[in-house]
Amino acid sequence: MSAVDTPAIQLARTPKSRLSQVDFDNLQFGQILSDHMLVAEYADGQWKEVSIVPYGDISISPSTSALHYGQSIFEGIKAYKFADGTVSIFRPDKNHERFNKSAVRLNMPEVPEEIFMGGLKALINLDRDWVPATPGASLYIRPFMFGTEAALGVHPSLSYKFIIITGPVGAYYNKPLRLKVETQFTRAAEGGVGFSKNAGNYALSLYPTRLAQEEGFDQLMWTDAQEHKYIEEAGTANLMFRVGDTIITPSGDTILHGVTRRSIVEVARHWGYQAEERKVSVKELIDGIKDGTVTEAFAAGTAATLTPITEIGYEGEIYTLPDPASREFSNKILQYLNDMRYGRIADEFGWNFIVD
Ligand SMILES: *Cc1c(COP(=O)(O)O)cnc(C)c1O
Repeated sequence: MSAVDTPAIQLARTPKSRLSQVDFDNLQFGQILSDHMLVAEYADGQWKEVSIVPYGDISISPSTSALHYGQSIFEGIKAYKFADGTVSIFRPDKNHERFNKSAVRLNMPEVPEEIFMGGLKALINLDRDWVPATPGASLYIRPFMFGTEAALGVHPSLSYKFIIITGPVGAYYNKPLRLKVETQFTRAAEGGVGFSKNAGNYALSLYPTRLAQEEGFDQLMWTDAQEHKYIEEAGTANLMFRVGDTIITPSGDTILHGVTRRSIVEVARHWGYQAEERKVSVKELIDGIKDGTVTEAFAAGTAATLTPITEIGYEGEIYTLPDPASREFSNKILQYLNDMRYGRIADEFGWNFIVD
């Protein structure tokens, strides 16, 4: 992948690394943050200082516009350590592209390549010892941006902060999922913000998700806003199904276009499977589970890569899918993507962004 020049980044190293205090065998997701963070300031119509500073609190005004009117977007990316110590980030250019699409939809400034990609590279390079070498572990990277203008008037913020924080995360145990088809609440409608990775899409999902969890489900399977007849996504991950030698996944701008979903579609086609990005009705899925033609179903996202779905709840009935151990495509692609991300096989698609 092409090298990106590092911008003029001010660097203030931490006087005391916290690395030696970290128990890499017991990492809770999002609890441990690395020594440094990147902070870029936007004001007066342009990006100003970009600096890498010790991770720590930031101070904001109570009238900070993002807190009131929600201009807040983010990304989720992972870096991996190869056996020889090489540090590689998986397809961050796709996250950069998506971040700017989210920015445009929320009327926020786009972040230029020198700051997003260059900043990512400089930050991960500095904190490379934080990328875990333990099996299955990785460094989770969270770029985000929010409106910082101190003003209660409703208008797009005039100033923004773009920040990248990172933290080591442990191996993910892909516990099979029980999903409930949501037919009352709505995550996203046509013309809305479903495709953007913005904070509000998470806020609105918390209450319906809790209700489903009280019924014993892990997460929701969101459906379309108009009829609740078409499957969209799981709210933190995209949904994919296998019928014969075809991989099917919902499409459209009411879903978040995941990098993992895209990668799976591309590899599936390369391997000779058909891959269809189209509308998938709940009826098609349930009928397929009943007659045995849907042989695999999984959620796809950066956090877990691929998580098998074993049970789907719909209108009071539970539909059970085949045993995850028997799922040929899911197991093969999970292994393949992991081997690629940890540098154990050739990077056929050029998806590893090496930090050197
Ligand atoms: C981040 C996210 C996903 C998964 O996207 P990846 O790029 O594969 O991590 C799916 N749905 C939603 C709502 C998301 O925010």
